Amino acid sequence: MTTRRGFLAGTAGAIAGLAFVGCDLLAARPARAQATRRQVMVGGKRVKTIDVHAHCAVPEAMALMSPRVSPPNLLPQLLMGTPQARLAAMDAQGIDVEALSINPYWYKADRDVATRICELQNEKLAQVCAANPDRFVAFATVALQHPDLAAAQLEEGVKKYSLRGAAIGGSVNGEEVSDPKFHPFWAKAEQLGVPVFIHPQGTAELNATTRFKGNGLLDNVIGNPLETTIALSHLIFEGTLDRFPGLKICGAHAGGFLPSYAGRSDRGCPTRPAACPGGTHGPIKKTPSEYLKQMYYDTMVFSGEGIRHLAAEVGAGQLMMGTDVPYPWTTTAVDDILGAPGVSDTDKVAMLGGNAMKLLGIQV
Ligand SMILES: [Zn+2]
Repeated sequence: MTTRRGFLAGTAGAIAGLAFVGCDLLAARPARAQATRRQVMVGGKRVKTIDVHAHCAVPEAMALMSPRVSPPNLLPQLLMGTPQARLAAMDAQGIDVEALSINPYWYKADRDVATRICELQNEKLAQVCAANPDRFVAFATVALQHPDLAAAQLEEGVKKYSLRGAAIGGSVNGEEVSDPKFHPFWAKAEQLGVPVFIHPQGTAELNATTRFKGNGLLDNVIGNPLETTIALSHLIFEGTLDRFPGLKICGAHAGGFLPSYAGRSDRGCPTRPAACPGGTHGPIKKTPSEYLKQMYYDTMVFSGEGIRHLAAEVGAGQLMMGTDVPYPWTTTAVDDILGAPGVSDTDKVAMLGGNAMKLLGIQV
């Protein structure tokens, strides 16, 4: 069971109101039995696998935006409207649990609308998880453009809905998440001891130029990891991670480019001291790359060698499997970890699910 004590009882009424998901999911389980479910083994033992980068959407909440937000192309998978297909895909890849998140589209909404959107989404996420508690957990959605509201939504998400942390963007309407205005949110996340999953939404400033135009999906393949790189860098260099040392940050897409080029972050200030007058909270307390070793990352680098390198840079204890489902980036997330060269079985088990179990409070 992944469900925290008291949660099911507290939301039983709400679950009954979401029959289309709950009943479908529950009914689907016996029929599928073990026939097509891949059992991931390491060293001869069954391993619990957890995907920390898994998306969904709640169309009723999207409809509250004005102008109305168009659902992404990949519906209905994003909507969880075909749960059997979603579970079948998980079974085929050997993924036992998905940690669901919703990419923010509501950061321009006023306080009232943002309140309703996040409340609805968090309710729905809780219902999906409660309907199949051994397969889904979720991150709360929060209105980070209203930091005090976001803090309250996170607390409600964790305490009322048993959500496991929050998922946020890599910036908020052009403002960095290290800005002191967001301190109430970071303080609450630290106080609750829950992780914050940072997922980029591209770099809007560059999208407005020609730099990412042309062949190659550059606004995504470069723009997304770039935004995460910028977000994590500001959390380090502005001293946010010193101000809130208990924060559990998880960077999507393996932390962007940052863990692949950590040495340059360390060399910037010694090379050009005048460019480093101190962050928001004065001089930072550690070497920049040391902060990388206290943050978490998904394993979305698409190769065993990439995962080996990531583990060498930040530590295997900081890595959790990610797929970006239902976007079809990969179907080999499990295999990439299993095939990572020079990585011990113990570390593979940790990356496949052990680290996520601890961070997200998922029980065996
Ligand atoms: Zn994603």
